[in-house]
Amino acid sequence: MFAAMRSERMEALHFFTDAATGLEAIIAIHNTRLGPALGGCRYQPYASLDEAVADAMRLARGMSYKAALAGLEQGGGKSVIIRPPHVEDRAALFEAFGRCIESLRGGYITAVDSGTSPADMDCIAQQTQHVTSTTRAGDPSPQTALGVLAGIRAAARARLGQDDLNGVRIMLQGLGNVGHALAELLVAEGVELLVADLDAGKVRLVVDELGAQPVALDAVFEAPCDIFTPCGLGGVLNTMSIGQLRCAAVAGAANNQLADADAADLLDARGILYTPDYVINAGGLLYVALTHKGMSKGEIALRIRQIGDRLDSIFAQSQAEGRSPAEIADRQAEGILYG
Ligand code: NAD
Repeated sequence: MFAAMRSERMEALHFFTDAATGLEAIIAIHNTRLGPALGGCRYQPYASLDEAVADAMRLARGMSYKAALAGLEQGGGKSVIIRPPHVEDRAALFEAFGRCIESLRGGYITAVDSGTSPADMDCIAQQTQHVTSTTRAGDPSPQTALGVLAGIRAAARARLGQDDLNGVRIMLQGLGNVGHALAELLVAEGVELLVADLDAGKVRLVVDELGAQPVALDAVFEAPCDIFTPCGLGGVLNTMSIGQLRCAAVAGAANNQLADADAADLLDARGILYTPDYVINAGGLLYVALTHKGMSKGEIALRIRQIGDRLDSIFAQSQAEGRSPAEIADRQAEGILYG
C-alpha cells in the first residue's frame, strides 16, 4: 500500500466504517500544497478494496492537477463510498459519511461525483460544512460548458487563426448536462453544429430547438469538421478513432479522453491539436470551489474565462518545445505542485 501511495505521490489515505449504516468509505488526499483537498465523492460497487483504493488515488491525483492549472488555492482529493448491494437508509449513510469528513477538520472538501447527487450532499451537510454542490449551490454543468467554450475559442485561435467561432464547424458528441448547455452557447456564437448522442431524444431536442445537424453514432469521428468536441464518456481518443478524425482540433468536456499514453502523440503526429481535458473542463470545479469560498458570480465567471488564457500558454509552449499539449499541461501542473 505504501509503495502504491509513493508512486502516486499520495499524502494520505483515510479508511472509515460505520456499523449502523453499513458505510465503508475511503478518502484519498493527494496533495495539499495549494490548500485543502477538494474532490467529488463516488458511490458505486467495487470488485475489491484494492480496486476502490486505486480508483480513489488515481482520481485524487487528477484533482490536484486540475486545481493547480485552474489557479485554485485548493489541493486534490477524492472519496469513494463502496456501494453495498442493499442500503437500508441512504440518507443515514451519507450523514455518517459527513461525520467522517468532519473528523478531518477541513482537510478534505467533498462534492458530487458518479453515483452521488446534490441531495446526498445535503445529507452530508447535516454533519459538516466541508461540502459543496448541495442543492442550494446548484448544478455546475452550465459553468463547465462556459469553460469549454473558452477552451474551444483558444483552440480556434491556435489552430484556425481566429477567435470568432462564427461559421466554425463543430462535431459535438454527447448532449447531456454539459453537452446540451454547450450546444446552446455554440449556436449563439454562429457555429455550424453537428451533434450525436446515444439518446435519440436528446439529439431531436437540439435539432428541433437549435437547428443542429444530426450525425449517426458510427459516423461521429469521420465527420469533417474544424473541431471535435467530446462531451460523452472518457477514453474516446484511441488508435482507431484518432485515425478516423477529420478535424483540426479536439476540445471537449469529457474526462480522461485519451485512451492510453500514446494517444496524445498520435494526435500530434496527425497534426490535430489536443486540448487537455482536465484544463478545459475545470469550469465546474472553479464554480464549486469558489462558490464554497463565497466569491461573487461575476468574479467566478471571469475565472472560468481564464481557462482560455491557460490554454493559450499551453499551446504556445507545446509549439515552442515540440511536445504534445497533454505533456505540457502535466509539466505545468507538476511545476506548480512540486516545483
Ligand atoms: P451526462 O451523463 O449528463 O451526459 C453524457 C451524455 O453523453 C449522455 O447524454 C450520453 O447519452 C452521451 N454519450 C455517452 N457516450 C456516448 C457516445 N459514445 N456517443 C454519443 N453520446 C454518448 O454527463 P455530463 O455531466 O454532461 O458530463 C459529460 C462529460 O464531461 C463526462 O465525461 C464528465 O465526466 C465530464 N465532465 C462533466 C462536468 C460537469 O460539470 N458535469 C465537469 C467536468 C467534466
